[in-house]
Amino acid sequence: MSKNHKIDTKLIHAGEPKVRYGNAVSMPIFQSSTFEVSGKADYHDLKYIRLNNTPNHIALHGKLAALENGEEALVASSGMAAISTTLLTFLKSGDHFLAHESLYGGTHDLINKDFPDLGISCDYIDGRNSDGWEEKLRPETKLIYVETITNPLLDVLDLNAVVIFAKQHNLLSLIDNTFASPVNYRPIEHGFDLSLHSATKYLNGHTDIVAGAVIGSQELVTKVRHKLNHLGGALDPNACFLMHRGMKTLSIRMERQNSNSLAVAKFLEDHEKVKNVHHPGLESSASFNRAQELLDGCGGMVSFEINGTVEDADKFMSYLTLFINAPSLGGVESLITRPAQSSHSGMSQEERSAAGIKDELIRMSIGIEAIEDLIADIEYTLEKI
Ligand SMILES: *Cc1c(COP(=O)(O)O)cnc(C)c1O
Repeated sequence: MSKNHKIDTKLIHAGEPKVRYGNAVSMPIFQSSTFEVSGKADYHDLKYIRLNNTPNHIALHGKLAALENGEEALVASSGMAAISTTLLTFLKSGDHFLAHESLYGGTHDLINKDFPDLGISCDYIDGRNSDGWEEKLRPETKLIYVETITNPLLDVLDLNAVVIFAKQHNLLSLIDNTFASPVNYRPIEHGFDLSLHSATKYLNGHTDIVAGAVIGSQELVTKVRHKLNHLGGALDPNACFLMHRGMKTLSIRMERQNSNSLAVAKFLEDHEKVKNVHHPGLESSASFNRAQELLDGCGGMVSFEINGTVEDADKFMSYLTLFINAPSLGGVESLITRPAQSSHSGMSQEERSAAGIKDELIRMSIGIEAIEDLIADIEYTLEKI
């Protein structure tokens, strides 16, 4: 595999064992907790599922690293295992870091509810605009943490400014790249130190496992791997197999989800019963120019408000036939949720309105169904409310 191969080719061939196990074309599942020792081995080299180094882990690590042109990668038992373990690898008691003010709920709660007890503090910044970041720096500031595309308002952050700022001030730069996926954005190529994923979403793509990933330099990923070996968030070989199988179709899924979501966003924007449509591929979006510059596609998410009450929004969601009312995202099927009731229900109404998240805001994760059918379902349902 060369760096120059296209991502579509790497998804199929990168990381696959050089000598196929038992000549199997598809990577088999090695459902064995421990492996026979050959020669002298360091603790972290003994093959054991918790040490994240069985054949199923190794194949995934090679594939993930190749996709984003990192030196090394690591899978974890969930996105949150990848995020918490990585932050705990580089932050200790007394340390401080900066993070974008609107983060995935689990990450936000980890920072606000768990880190204070560990003596780790965080100041929030507006990742869309670098004014004011410098004032938040302290001698003990160690890193900066952002997401590629925010949830649920789908802003694209000023990622180039984050990389420059981190280098200027000797900070590690970490990015949660879940919403973009490696098809739409490859953080390491842009200078980020570590790229994190909830592989539960686009990477796996089939809504049947939870998994996480960390991609970066050999030095940094090895540090995270040693911490993960101690904290214990290893991905089971059977889940490794499903993630490996799911990833092979990532680029064709993303291509369809990129185009389906933009078509849905455009349809909604032109509809009289809808207002405030958020999608970075719409020319009306404040993130449009940045998305054009940084991303190869905008992902499968759309959010908007119904011209009406929260009850109208709930009626719309329940009358749709092809969209399933469920949290999470990135799978082959279209999902719909009302963030105030699901992903952002932990925030108070004041916190939500300060963040621009109205109670009637609806978020869709667009799947790979035929676009004609998705739009017909939305159009017919809007007529009924
Ligand atoms: C879902 C998600 C996570 C958490 O991932 P899990 O696999 O559920 O632990 C983190 N970040 C983002 C952006 C997500 O969407």
